[in-house]
Formats: sequence, structure tokens, C-alpha cells
Amino acid sequence: MIDFKALAQTFDTPLYVYDFDRITARYEELKKAFAGRKSLIAYAVKANSNLSVVGHLASLGAGADCVSIGEVRRALTAGVPKYKIIFSGVGKRDDEIEEALRSDILLLNLESEGEMKRVEAIAERLGVKARISIRVNPNIDPKTHPYISTGLHENKFGVDIETAKRMYIHANNSDHLDPVGIHFHIGSQLTELEPIKEAAMIVADLVRSLLAVKIELKFFDVGGGLGIVYDNETTIAPYDYAQAILSTLHGLDLTVICEPGRFMVGDAGWFVTRVLYEKENEGRRFVIVDGAMNDLLRPSLYNAYHKVEVLGKSGNETPADVVGPVCESGDFFAKKRPLPPTEHNDLVIVHSAGAYGFVMASNYNTRPRPAEVAISGGKARCIRQRESFEDLIRLEKMCL
Ligand SMILES: *Cc1c(COP(=O)(O)O)cnc(C)c1O
Repeated sequence: MIDFKALAQTFDTPLYVYDFDRITARYEELKKAFAGRKSLIAYAVKANSNLSVVGHLASLGAGADCVSIGEVRRALTAGVPKYKIIFSGVGKRDDEIEEALRSDILLLNLESEGEMKRVEAIAERLGVKARISIRVNPNIDPKTHPYISTGLHENKFGVDIETAKRMYIHANNSDHLDPVGIHFHIGSQLTELEPIKEAAMIVADLVRSLLAVKIELKFFDVGGGLGIVYDNETTIAPYDYAQAILSTLHGLDLTVICEPGRFMVGDAGWFVTRVLYEKENEGRRFVIVDGAMNDLLRPSLYNAYHKVEVLGKSGNETPADVVGPVCESGDFFAKKRPLPPTEHNDLVIVHSAGAYGFVMASNYNTRPRPAEVAISGGKARCIRQRESFEDLIRLEKMCL
């Protein structure tokens, strides 16, 4: 049990709290599911990119899936070995490609022919051979929220099978490209296994047809997307997930890479905020807290559901909206949620806030971003200080 009250007293609110022992358990569970096959768990840094979080996962043996050169630098800074780092993303600048190649990371994951041409040209200029994988868009409906679905042709991600084949043949004939892997990622917060298995089957077939023309890949990257419980979802068990993927790979000698973000950290994190006061507008009840959409954007951005709990209170529950102080109607954490009566300074705990929480925080309304605290072995450590007003204006100049 995490003592949120003590944490709020020590570190103030709004506050992010992460349970590192839970993150360890998640990592071990997934790693074990792939036992018997060479595998790399490349943590999707964008889910929660705090250096201590990435470093903790690195210490367990995880690699890193990065979507900007900033994330690559973070991963290296946090101690992820370069040979476990992947650089993905639908748009990479020349300088990002160059730095990634100079850093000699495991591979660049390509998402278009245009990108391949840039990587090839830059690799030639640097006199290196770029290890690449290609992100295939298998045109599978992952049955998740449309904003986090990525595996349909209508999404901007990846290339279709025919384009991928052409790209592999080009890369294989190039002096400056080394096609070592194949990649797909059909969406996030996946709770059904069948779409993943279907996608893996399609992509494994592509691997076989490449083998037939003597293009031998080493890495089969199944992306991320494993869902977690926010409300009452049934989630995919890591063992079933691994079995479904491995069942498509018979006869193929490939290292499986997976890139979980949310699964690793999502339900290992909480957002802790404090009640300022309550009010009622024509029968609609509002609980106004000191955290806001700038701290945790998911409800506003995706209409995402998070469990909210008024710490230590229960009974006499009536529907309430939990809202922040930001000047937007979209600034809410929960709507029409049965909650007990609250008082000034009661703590409201927002559950499953470890992924896509702090990383999406902004300074909108000149609000400093919250502090982040890690719990491990019962000990709490601050892993990111709360911002100050001076931090917020540091890069600005008064030009009159
Ligand atoms: C976002 C992303 C992930 C992680 O997704 P989760 O749903 O958090 O597991 C993995 N791979 C790629 C390429 C991504 O863009």
C-alpha cells in the first residue's frame, strides 16, 4: 500500500507517483512469456520518459524504442546500451538520422520510401551501413480508440506490403543499407488478441517471401500496444500474447522485439491531486482539484476513463465532475462519477496514470509541471522536481 497522504505532505500536490516494483514485475512477466526464444523488450520511452524510469528498466535488461533523437539521447543517458536502442517514427529530420547513425544504435525503423532515401544518402556521406527495419502497415483494425489506432491504411503509419517488398529489395542491394528487421505496431491499449495475431501472420508471411529472394532478417518487431485496466477491461495475458506471436513464426530464426509502453508503466502510476472546494451549478456537482488537464491530458484528449478515488472516504456518493482550474471546459478528470462528499484538502487519486501522463504535461495557464516520485522497496525518492515559476520563464526575453 502506498501512503499517498504522507507523499502529498512531503512532495505537495499535484504529484505523480510511480511504483518501481510494479514496473519490475511487469517487465519480468513479459520477458518470461517470451522465454525459449531470443527476445528484446524495447520499452517505448514516450509512455514515460523520466530518466529514472528508463534507467530502472535498463537495469532490468530492457532496451528502448525511441521516436525522436531526444528520446535516443534520454535512453543513452539513462544507461540503455546502444545495441538495444531503436529509432522509430513517421518523420525524422536529417540531423536526427545523422546522430542516430553516429550513435551506432541497433536500428532505424523506416516508415516511407522517402525516409529510406534520406537514410541511405546520409549513411553514404558518413561512410557507414545503416541497419534498418521497415514498418509494415498490415491494414488490421485493432479495435481500439481511433486516435490510438495505427495499423489501418487510413493511418499515417508504415507502408503497405508491396511497398515494403520494394524497399527491402532496394535496401538489400544498397551499399549503405542493411535490412535487419521488420516491424509493425497496430495500435495502443489493445485488449483483443486476434488483431495482433492476424498482423503477425501477415508480416511473418512477408518475412518468408523475403527469405525466398535471399533477404534474411534477424528481428521481428511486434510493436507495443498491450492494454491495461483503466475501468473494467479484460486485458491480454502476456503469456497468451507471446504464444500468439510465436505461433506465427515456426521455421523462422528471428529475435522477437516488443515495444510495450503503457503495459510497462501505466498501472504503476498514480496522479495525486487535492480538493480545493466543491460547487454546484443547477444541480450539477463539481469537485474542483488543484491538478488539471495540463498535468494529465488523457481525459481531455481521448475522453479517456481513469478511476478516481477520494482517499479515505466512502458513502453518500452522488455524481460529480472532477475538474481542474484551467480555463477550458475540456479540463476534467472524470464526469458524472459517484463520489462521496469532499472537503478542502482531501486527496483525489487518479489511477493508471503512469503512461502518457507526465510526458504530455504542459505549462498551459503558466502552471508548473508536477513533481514525480518513485517508490521502490517502500522508499520514496523524488525523480523530478516540481517546476518553479523561474523555470517557466527561463527561455523568454522581455523585448519592448
Ligand atoms: C507508441 C508506440 C509504442 C508503445 O505503445 P503502447 O501502447 O504504449 O505499448 C510502441 N511502438 C511504437 C512504434 C509506438 O509508436
